[in-house]
Amino acid sequence: MADTKPKLAVWKFASCDGCQLSLLDCEDDLLALSGAVEFASFREATRNEIAGPYDLSLVEGSISVPADLERIRHIREQSRHLVTIGACATAGGIQALRNGRDAEEFMSIVYAKPDYIDSLATSTPISAHVTVDFELRGCPIDKRQLLEVITAFLFKRKPNIPHYSVCMECKRRSLVCVMVTRGTPCLGPVTQAGCGALCPACNRGCYGCFGPVETPNLPSLTEQWTALGASRRDIRQALSTFNTGAETFAREAARHDD
Ligand code: SF4
Ligand code: SF4
Repeated sequence: MADTKPKLAVWKFASCDGCQLSLLDCEDDLLALSGAVEFASFREATRNEIAGPYDLSLVEGSISVPADLERIRHIREQSRHLVTIGACATAGGIQALRNGRDAEEFMSIVYAKPDYIDSLATSTPISAHVTVDFELRGCPIDKRQLLEVITAFLFKRKPNIPHYSVCMECKRRSLVCVMVTRGTPCLGPVTQAGCGALCPACNRGCYGCFGPVETPNLPSLTEQWTALGASRRDIRQALSTFNTGAETFAREAARHDD
């Protein structure tokens, strides 16, 4: 029976490994999953490596060095379905802070001998290079959402992942809005749900780790932040974190550049 199980492969590009660890963190559910699929590649869990093709590939990390370009195309060719997981794979991650800046200058400041570094000038999401079947947002991703996505692909149905904002999660939990009642800048209105409104539940604003919703109204939100006293620099910095490479966040951050 073992050879009839679907083959699941997990691939890492430029990233901190946190999203792969979310899969390991599934604990009991991971045991059930390993009974249902064959892990063909998952470096965080096993040295075992089985040749493709693969039924489902989970890709973590951004395209950041020249060698990534050929590797991601090869993985795409070998994968029936390809799902990107996390802010690096869906928006370029923290690495995308260098996009539009002088990457060579950064390297000369950080490294004593940058001559050995072979890096692309930009950090880009996987979807900029190959067709992606589904993007799972988060920094890191939510393990329940990850299990939902894997299960959906195994059972050939659409993943039931919400595309509404963190504000909806706030309302569902009957949380008091920190932006309305305390004047705390919050990215919740433009951030995709997935965390259960973790930060507003702790009386702090959302800083957008689940990335933008499908149609965010950034200009309207930053206008409200400005009314609350946020400076252009505050706004630019708030949009320049894990999801800085997401097009809508990057565009609004650039609009507040000096
Ligand atoms: S606290 Fe933030 S996420 Fe929650 S309702 Fe207010 S603006 Fe939306
Ligand atoms: S920053 Fe926003 S998306 Fe991230 S955990 Fe906090 S509330 Fe959730």
